Amino acid sequence: MKQSDRHKRLTELFCSLCEVNNITVDWCVGVNAADPFQDLISLRCATITTDAEFAIALHELGHHVTHRETYLGPRRVRERVAWEWSREACYANDVPWTEEMTAVESECIEAWRKHLDQGRTER
Ligand SMILES: [Zn+2]
Repeated sequence: MKQSDRHKRLTELFCSLCEVNNITVDWCVGVNAADPFQDLISLRCATITTDAEFAIALHELGHHVTHRETYLGPRRVRERVAWEWSREACYANDVPWTEEMTAVESECIEAWRKHLDQGRTER
């Protein structure tokens, strides 16, 4: 999918936030994940073309930035804190948190809630 000007700007913002935090981004693998022990983010999307992809990318970066204060805490809390960080990073850079971003945030939180409620081991 072609990247709009808006998503080009959001990608630049995301990359500059990664740089400030010394994080490398792997754009092309089949999983969204942050590995705070390796200063690496792996993103499912090769290019950010939607607000949802931007929000997820920012969320993974949020895991890195909030890692030190939360890594011993429960998964639920780590997820919430990483989303809160993402919202704040947006506001700090004059990017409104859109409905699409809110929707993907709710989806992810709900997916974790279900996963954890099923009694699976926390990672
Ligand atoms: Zn997460």
